[in-house]
Amino acid sequence: MLNIRIEKTKNPKPLPAADDPLKFGTIFTDHMFIMNYETGKGWFDPRVVPYQKIELDPSAMVFHYGQEMFEGLKAYRSEDGKVLLFRPDKNIERANNTNRRICIPEIPEDIFLEAIKTVVKVDEAWVPSKPDTSLYIRPFIIATDPYLGVRPADTYLFMIILSPVGPYYPEGLNPVKIWIEDEYVRAVKGGIGEAKTGGNYVASLASQVKAHEEGYSQVLWLDGIERKYIEEVGAMNIFFKINGTVITPKLNGSILPGVTRDSCIQLCKKWGLTVEEKKISVDEVFKAAEDGTLEEVWGTGTAAVVSPVSHLRWENKVSKIKDGGIGELSKKLYENITGIQLGKIQGPDGWIEVVK
Ligand SMILES: *Cc1c(COP(=O)(O)O)cnc(C)c1O
Repeated sequence: MLNIRIEKTKNPKPLPAADDPLKFGTIFTDHMFIMNYETGKGWFDPRVVPYQKIELDPSAMVFHYGQEMFEGLKAYRSEDGKVLLFRPDKNIERANNTNRRICIPEIPEDIFLEAIKTVVKVDEAWVPSKPDTSLYIRPFIIATDPYLGVRPADTYLFMIILSPVGPYYPEGLNPVKIWIEDEYVRAVKGGIGEAKTGGNYVASLASQVKAHEEGYSQVLWLDGIERKYIEEVGAMNIFFKINGTVITPKLNGSILPGVTRDSCIQLCKKWGLTVEEKKISVDEVFKAAEDGTLEEVWGTGTAAVVSPVSHLRWENKVSKIKDGGIGELSKKLYENITGIQLGKIQGPDGWIEVVK
């Protein structure tokens, strides 16, 4: 099939020490995948090369108008030493949805998967094996034409870099305090909220800074029009359990369709729970908290998998969810999803892709 050239480093770095906390996104492996695109030629020269700096013209389009996309998934080390990917087909499908939205040429799905598997295989020794560790995989594409006009670029670079990561919460599953943003918005229907692209993150920074200053670790976004309906957290989707029913905001065009979100929905349904994907207002959530029917709140995303929420702050109201601890269902979802990712629990068909 695809002919990926492999150039191995002559100066391998030492692997992280066994007691290294592997702080998220700080350590990079020895190699990276890279492939070019040119209009008329398509994607070409796929290669795995030593991890290195890239040279770009200061006028490269990505620096000025933000034409870039990214994905995030992980490789896991199973007990018997295999390297596993969790639902990479979902990330690849989403990557091409993002590409279409921001006029980046699509990457054929089989080539995308082969690129991930090849670079992970080359740096296989970097997939950590301690509990709650994994190899974070960051595919991304940038527009590289040296041009200051506004239009889709004619040249791109597709790269995949790898980073061994430790547990998201070093002390274990840990409830987070969430700030519901009432001043800024992240996205509106018709915008780029459902695309995984840097622009959504830069729009969120000011709120994140404000929330951190107030002692909250994450921002929860409301819809951009009525400022009433719950959308999602900075890099996580959100779930509520109210009176026994699992509720998550319906994908409406401004919410990022998370792979972990979809996995939670499927597992909850398999366990016989009622799951509703619907519009849910912040008022409904605070009412449920007041009348005692709000049983659990949690966020979902690749980095932390499941993040129980202990507090919600909205305008001047702060609601503590139950006793501020970890809900039963949040815990069960965390244990089952991580168990499936590590190959310890049999998940639904097609959720695990073996790298080696
Ligand atoms: C990536 C991301 C998520 C989580 O998606 P997963 O596929 O579960 O990792 C949620 N919200 C935003 C804005 C994201 O960028």
